[in-house]
Amino acid sequence: MEKQCQSCGMPLKENQGSEADGSLSNMYCNLCYKDGAFISPDMSVQEMKQICDEALKEKGWIKPLRWVALMQIPTLKRWKK
Ligand SMILES: [Zn+2]
Repeated sequence: MEKQCQSCGMPLKENQGSEADGSLSNMYCNLCYKDGAFISPDMSVQEMKQICDEALKEKGWIKPLRWVALMQIPTLKRWKK
């Protein structure tokens, strides 16, 4: 299975975030996670969905595809309770 950021759901490739010791995170991307901490620690899952929706819209994703992508966000590790 392809790795994806456990915060925003984007594919995790060359865009890994960094841990406090400078190593690369296998869990989160560099837009969500830096130096061992979330960049926006107070963000809600609703806000994350909105940001992703805008980002995907800019990439030209049609609404049904965006809907599927956004659906998975609450199941990611960061948001699962
Ligand atoms: Zn991310």
